[in-house]
Amino acid sequence: MPQQIFKMTDKGIYIPGADIYIDPWKPVKRSIITHAHSDHAHTGNENYLSHHITKPILKYRLGENINCTSVEYGEAFFINGIKFSLHPAGHIPGSAQIRIEENGNVLVVSGDYKLENDFVSGIFEPVKCNTFISESTFGLPVFKWKNQTEILEEINIWWKNNIDQNKTSVLCGYALGKAQRLLKNIDTGIGKIFAHGAVFNMNEILRNAGVEIPSAEKISSELNKEDYKNALILAPPSVIGNRWLNKFNPYSIGYCSGWMQIRGNKRRQAVDRGFVVSDHADWDQLNKAIKLTGAETIYITHGFTSSYVKWLNENGFDAHELETEFAGEAITDDEEKENISV
Ligand SMILES: [Zn+2]
Ligand SMILES: [Zn+2]
Repeated sequence: MPQQIFKMTDKGIYIPGADIYIDPWKPVKRSIITHAHSDHAHTGNENYLSHHITKPILKYRLGENINCTSVEYGEAFFINGIKFSLHPAGHIPGSAQIRIEENGNVLVVSGDYKLENDFVSGIFEPVKCNTFISESTFGLPVFKWKNQTEILEEINIWWKNNIDQNKTSVLCGYALGKAQRLLKNIDTGIGKIFAHGAVFNMNEILRNAGVEIPSAEKISSELNKEDYKNALILAPPSVIGNRWLNKFNPYSIGYCSGWMQIRGNKRRQAVDRGFVVSDHADWDQLNKAIKLTGAETIYITHGFTSSYVKWLNENGFDAHELETEFAGEAITDDEEKENISV
C-alpha cells in the first residue's frame, strides 16, 4: 500500500510533504481553498491559494490584504516536488477539486461538488485517482434532484402566478453561487429582476472575474412599491422572517435549497414555496462521481458520513469516515450547514 499523501489534523486536511492544508478551519501558514463558502474559507491564514475566480471573493470576504495566489483549472504547480492542480467541481463559480500527486500516487480532495451543469460554475471533471476524499452533504438515497430545466420551469411558473395575483416574488438562495445560478437560468423575459445588496455585490465581483450573469438592479431606498410590482427579488435566506420584506408587500416568498426535499423542514414552514435546488451532489451523483474516479480508497466527509461509509463498504468499496471538526459558530452561506438533522 502506498504511503498516505494526507493526514487529518485538528486544523483540517494536511499534506505533510508540501506543508500545506486544504480548507483549514484554524489559521495556518499555507492553505489551498476549494471555494469561497465560509465553511471552507476561514480567516487568518498567512497564504491562500485558489482558483482565479475564488481569489477576489476571498479578498472581499476575508480582507483585501490577504496573501492570495491563484491558478487556472488544470494548471500544474509544484510544492516541494509534489504536483498539484485544480479541477472544476461544478459547485459554485471558482469551486475546485484539488489533485495531489506524490511519487505516482494520486489523491483528489473533492471539496463541495455537483455533476449537473448549471452554466455558471464550470462542469465537474472526473479526475482519476488512488484516493478520493468526497463530501456527502446529501448522502442519503432520499435526496434525488430533478434536472435544472424542470425546477427552473417551476420557478418561472410560480413567478408568473404571483404576477397574476399582483404579488412581488421574493426568491431566496445563498448569495454566493445559488443566486447567480438562479439569475443565469431564470426566464428574464417574465419581468424585472432586482437583487438584495449581498447578492448584488457578489454578482459584481463574479462579473468582474469573468462569470457571465444577467444584470439585476440593486434594491434601494429610492425605489418604491410600484417599481417592484411584478418583479422578482433575489435575496439571501437571512431575509426570511425579516422586516426587510415589508417593502414588497404583498409578496410571495420562495426558497431554494436541497433541504426543501425534506417535508416539515423548518425553513420550508417559514416560506410560501420551497424549491429543491441544490449545488451539492445528490445520492446518485455522489455514487457516480466516486465510481468515475476509479479510486481504490474513499474517504467521506461533511454530512451523512457514517451511513454512507457503511453503504459504500457493503457495495464493494474501501471506504472510511474522515473525522472533521468545524469552527462551530461560523455562519455559512452554504446549504450544507443549514439543517444537519433530517
Ligand atoms: Zn460550498
Ligand atoms: Zn461546504
